[in-house]
Amino acid sequence: MNNKNYQTYQGVKMVKSERKEMLSTWDQFKEALAAFAQDLTIVGHAEEATISPFDEPKDYGQYSLVQIPENLEEDEFKRKMADIDTILITCMDKRVARPAWVAEGGGNKKIMILAIGGGVVQNQQRHNSMEIIASYLGKFNNVSQVVAADHDCICGAVKFFLNSLGLLHDQGLPGLLKVDPGDKAEKKLMESLIAYGAQPWIKAFGADKVIAKNAEVDETNHDVNMVVVDLSQAEPLNIEQLAEQLKQRQD
Ligand SMILES: [Zn+2]
Repeated sequence: MNNKNYQTYQGVKMVKSERKEMLSTWDQFKEALAAFAQDLTIVGHAEEATISPFDEPKDYGQYSLVQIPENLEEDEFKRKMADIDTILITCMDKRVARPAWVAEGGGNKKIMILAIGGGVVQNQQRHNSMEIIASYLGKFNNVSQVVAADHDCICGAVKFFLNSLGLLHDQGLPGLLKVDPGDKAEKKLMESLIAYGAQPWIKAFGADKVIAKNAEVDETNHDVNMVVVDLSQAEPLNIEQLAEQLKQRQD
């Protein structure tokens, strides 16, 4: 067995030929992304228009939810993807999507943005959709970097997932932790959630192309600080495991 044929990351070991067999189709990709189509209702802004993955995110203060436009065919999508340097997965948050895009070189670099509620941090059902999305996009070898991100200072999606699991707090994760939004305890857990959420992208693109980041929210400057999550240190944690930990703390 030649080790060069393996992409290894935290127990995920695959022969390259197996990766090929698993690639999703365009229809599976579109269907998977449609799983996030209602995300604007989570934040009570169902009326806002979505954007295409090749658009600039909306200005600070507006949500940027990415969906595939109805009239976009696979040929055109592939043509647009051929120019792309970077894929940025980020939360659609009105304080995060635009600053994260700018911080990653949007406007200079060709960025394909996947802005959805929670970025790479998802509950298990939506994480499965992300695996399909990552698998489809993994075929575009011209992409040199994938930024797998979410943010602290209360991600509304994380709050929504925890609420769905019976953990209600209007301050979301920091409220449940009994710390201020942006506290290092929130950051540490967000980094673990991001480390888990980065895994489908590492599987699809290889560990050398994927960089996991926490967008530290800076509301005073209408900016974010894109902090690299050290994947050799952050213990991957999913939403369901986090909920279990928080329930045990409450007991
Ligand atoms: Zn968020």
